[in-house]
Amino acid sequence: MRQSTYLLPTLREAPAEAETISHRLMLRAGFIRQLAAGIYTYLPLGWRVLRKVESIVREEMDRAGAQEILMPAMQPAELWQESGRYQVYGPELIRLHDRHEREFALGPTHEEVVTTLVRNEIRSYRKLPINLYQIQTKFRDERRPRFGLLRGREFLMKDAYSFDLDWEGLDKSYWAMYDAYTRIFTRCGLNFRAVEADAGAIGGEGGTHEFMALADIGEDTIATCTQCEYAANLEKAEAGPGVSEYREVAVGEHEKFHTPNIRTIEQLTESLGVSADRFIKTLIYLADGQPVAVLVRGDHDANEVKVKNYLGATNVELADPETTRQVTGAPVGFAGPVGLKIPVLVDREVASMQAGIAGANEQDYHLRNVRPGRDFPVEKTGDFRNVLEGDRCPRCSGTLKFYRGIEVGHVFKLGTKYSEKLGAKYLDANGKEQVMIMGCYGIGVSRVLSAIVEQSHDDNGMIWPVAVAPFHVHLIPVSVKDEAQIKVAEELYDRLRQTGVEVLMDDRDERPGVKFKDSDLTGIPIRLTVGKGAGEGRVEYKERAQSESMDLSIEEAMDRIV
Ligand code: ATP
Ligand code: MG
Ligand code: MG
Ligand code: MG
Repeated sequence: MRQSTYLLPTLREAPAEAETISHRLMLRAGFIRQLAAGIYTYLPLGWRVLRKVESIVREEMDRAGAQEILMPAMQPAELWQESGRYQVYGPELIRLHDRHEREFALGPTHEEVVTTLVRNEIRSYRKLPINLYQIQTKFRDERRPRFGLLRGREFLMKDAYSFDLDWEGLDKSYWAMYDAYTRIFTRCGLNFRAVEADAGAIGGEGGTHEFMALADIGEDTIATCTQCEYAANLEKAEAGPGVSEYREVAVGEHEKFHTPNIRTIEQLTESLGVSADRFIKTLIYLADGQPVAVLVRGDHDANEVKVKNYLGATNVELADPETTRQVTGAPVGFAGPVGLKIPVLVDREVASMQAGIAGANEQDYHLRNVRPGRDFPVEKTGDFRNVLEGDRCPRCSGTLKFYRGIEVGHVFKLGTKYSEKLGAKYLDANGKEQVMIMGCYGIGVSRVLSAIVEQSHDDNGMIWPVAVAPFHVHLIPVSVKDEAQIKVAEELYDRLRQTGVEVLMDDRDERPGVKFKDSDLTGIPIRLTVGKGAGEGRVEYKERAQSESMDLSIEEAMDRIV
């Protein structure tokens, strides 16, 4: 490809709304452009990477024996009513009408469609097991689409569905997918962990694992043992016995503080003399599954990100004053679990904080040293989610360490949930009707791109692993006006392409500094610069991940690359 006519619009600055590194870099390096919130166009470079991830997924799914199909995005609402999910799924499901006023939904997932297909096409045990998959655009009207491709409203997913004769069969299908996922994410160059997950909303009777790419901006927290293989999403994690101790909060009289113009959690906690970390952990802990309202004005999304980045607190909602009042019954201008029913027991860490913060029922005021139970009513609710970093592993004598993770894949034993409702049955060897046992397996193909960039970049831009890089070699004639340089560059361009190397040649009439900056930004793994040495047949070879470059002859450069 020749860059002079290639659609590769790089930007010096990323738009202000891009909060994460991957989002900023994808925009700056001309990989994606936003059309509407959570809806993106893939420009040529982004599309090339997406296709590479896709083909790794496809190869490994095929190798695992799954069969590729393509199902419609537009699904009749009746199917969702049959499965019972039409109401349950909520506003994330995009609903529409056709010209005959028939209701449809845009598929966020395809259990209903695939189960119906298999119900209609498979009758005999001889045709099972079967695993059907597709790589297809999904639609989810996410409450807060963000971070570029990480949480889109229209995104590319690989979804697979297995149908087995019995539970032993499902177990085999499940672990075959688990292994395929391990190969896929390894080939994509991701640093990831497979973790035990919470069955949650999809519902199912078996186990489930999430594949988590480790990254600080990840929205999930995972607990992993320092000694054994134990790893679980915090939503599911357990702690071994004998570590957490519960105490009542021991605090003095509460004090009222004037806290005007507070816009961030840090400002608030600083003005009250506690660390933001402690403050948020306390809120989350005390609220125990109930909504916590934090802060009221200022940069809402940024604050929510911060809160969610602590302990994977999915129950935390940040609200404006009006919503806050509606959700919690709490007053305007406050932070903390005021007016909520909260548990009195707290753990050692929280107790040592010695300062509960709450709203003062008055704008621009906060209370410090609040004592739940003394200062407002308290009621113990359910079990504590009390796994803290440093707690004991439930399996061995090791301790738990926390990481942040991006959910890039999910394998799930569904059992008979959908096959029963939608009537996916087969006749066994004795002619007796049996319900098929299902599993489902998703990979966020487009999300993987962002996860890779989160893990693989430096101050100058992206650093693509070769297996998914948009091009292998970035060929840069320093001056397109220099005949010797152009001659060598054109020769290299042809020879590399003939050997199957994907080359992008920067044939633009730009200053070298601009070309090098753009090259670093796009993260193509090898840069070949044709400069002053061209006349003597010398070129500069540099790997994006290395800081040093090498002065090589054309043949030496070819040998290194091919
Ligand atoms: P999350 O917890 O991030 O909302 P999920 O558990 O709802 O994801 P699944 O239903 O398990 O997602 O879908 C399978 C995979 O699709 C996920 O593991 C994830 O990689 C990807 N995915 C889900 N939602 C999105 C989204 N909004 N944008 C991009 N990828 C997504
Ligand atoms: Mg989701
Ligand atoms: Mg999830
Ligand atoms: Mg999931």
